Amino acid sequence: MSIEQLARDNVRKLTPYQSARRIGGNGDVWLNANEYPEATHYQLTQQNLNRYPECQPVQVVQRYATYAGVKPEQVIVSRGADEGIELLMRAFCEPGKDAVLYCPPTYGMYSVSAETLGVERRTVASKADWQLDLPAIAATLEGVKLVYVCSPNNPTGNLINPDDIRELLAMTAERALVVVDEAYIEFCPEASVVSWLRQYPNLVVLRTLSKAFALAGLRCGFTLASEEIINLLLKVIAPYPLSTPVADIAAQALSETGISTMRKRVAELNARRSQLALTLAKCACVTQVYPSETNYLLFNLTDSDKAFKALWDKGIILRDQNKQPGLKGCLRISIGTQRECDAVTDALKNF
Ligand SMILES: *Cc1c(COP(=O)(O)O)cnc(C)c1O
Repeated sequence: MSIEQLARDNVRKLTPYQSARRIGGNGDVWLNANEYPEATHYQLTQQNLNRYPECQPVQVVQRYATYAGVKPEQVIVSRGADEGIELLMRAFCEPGKDAVLYCPPTYGMYSVSAETLGVERRTVASKADWQLDLPAIAATLEGVKLVYVCSPNNPTGNLINPDDIRELLAMTAERALVVVDEAYIEFCPEASVVSWLRQYPNLVVLRTLSKAFALAGLRCGFTLASEEIINLLLKVIAPYPLSTPVADIAAQALSETGISTMRKRVAELNARRSQLALTLAKCACVTQVYPSETNYLLFNLTDSDKAFKALWDKGIILRDQNKQPGLKGCLRISIGTQRECDAVTDALKNF
């Protein structure tokens, strides 16, 4: 018997998440992972690495609660929002019995986590305008414990209609949790549903320091929900999910200075995104640039394969979305520095 055969069936069949880092590329213009293009420097203040860290670093939790406008008891901090996605499945979904539901095209980790855990995946394609198909969701809810809604949605960049999220919350009341993934909410903070937590006991909100806070390498994310849900997640999280240096830096990023720096970055990136959308739309090879509330743009090209390859060969790495349902001919570009955005538009102008 081969070792391979000893592994769980679903693990043998599993295709790991094709993260931007895994796909690779050789370049100096990295616009494929929605990262902030420049590094912020931090000094470590905690030197007690001989000790285990706190399971839930109090200062990080308190600062995030204040920032998000919730009680500290409504926050759990984890190794990125990705770990939050999985903790929810581990706490709420019985493998082989319960299902999760999400609406493609959307973020890839809902699918990968469910597959890894052996939890059934239900998909309801979003409508042509990338909004929720509520009647189709209603018809598919049997056995569903978690509905993941990404707003603003990755990779399309649009917000999900708040009225539709309310209808979904009502439809799933006492049956399933609605998990609103707000990884990009800092780019459109007025659209957050976090204040609805008081009203809907089945609402969960996911957040991260990876995007607007410019800390993708730190691996720090947050799940916000009722105290009851948080207590269930605290049962299944690892005993030491964040290392001491991670908690140290996260606390600094969430200080008043850290948050105001983040807001300046957001204003700059939002302005640059509007500019880039206009410039891209003028390129002959670009057929459509979709509206975005995030730090990336989805756009459609006459020959996206050829453009992707041509940029790749110049060391400019974008994200190919061509294979996602409904996104034929689409590429996604993260908003980089001005120089990086110019490199892309210069290359596409002559294409
Ligand atoms: C980047 C991203 C995440 C993951 O965030 P991490 O905190 O880096 O794990 C979650 N959801 C969406 C939609 C994202 O784009």
